[in-house]
Amino acid sequence: MAMALVVTIIMPMMLKTMMILDKLMRYDDLLDKTELNTYTRTLNARAKQIGIPTRLSMPDVRGVILESGGVCGWCAVSLLRQPFELDHIIPLADKGAHTPQNLVVACPDCNRRKSSQHPAKFAQALSVQLGQTTPLILRVLSHYGITPLFQKPLL
Ligand SMILES: [Zn+2]
Repeated sequence: MAMALVVTIIMPMMLKTMMILDKLMRYDDLLDKTELNTYTRTLNARAKQIGIPTRLSMPDVRGVILESGGVCGWCAVSLLRQPFELDHIIPLADKGAHTPQNLVVACPDCNRRKSSQHPAKFAQALSVQLGQTTPLILRVLSHYGITPLFQKPLL
């Protein structure tokens, strides 16, 4: 249910947000402040709705997007000129923090597939599917003290 809410809120913004990443990759000082502001307020409204008192600032959200390097944090697919979403790594509904550290840029596919799954379960399944891990997968598994199912061969 929480995920459906995110998708509902973010979908109308997709056409515009998909342009943000394109802009920032070449003109990051021109990142659209109005769009960022709207996006930030949307994220904060969702947190407020489920009783979380912390708020993100526009520079927080901008920082998460810039730090993505233009790829999905989960699967590392390029998001250049593609729609993307911001995902709470540990869902707010599972007491995840509403902070930049708990946010990641995600492709819509990963965000949809992760949905209400436990982040470690999703990370495990994704590493097997990809045949590799990503820094975020390792970070999430490490947070929960889990060894990745997929291990790179030595040779
Ligand atoms: Zn992805």
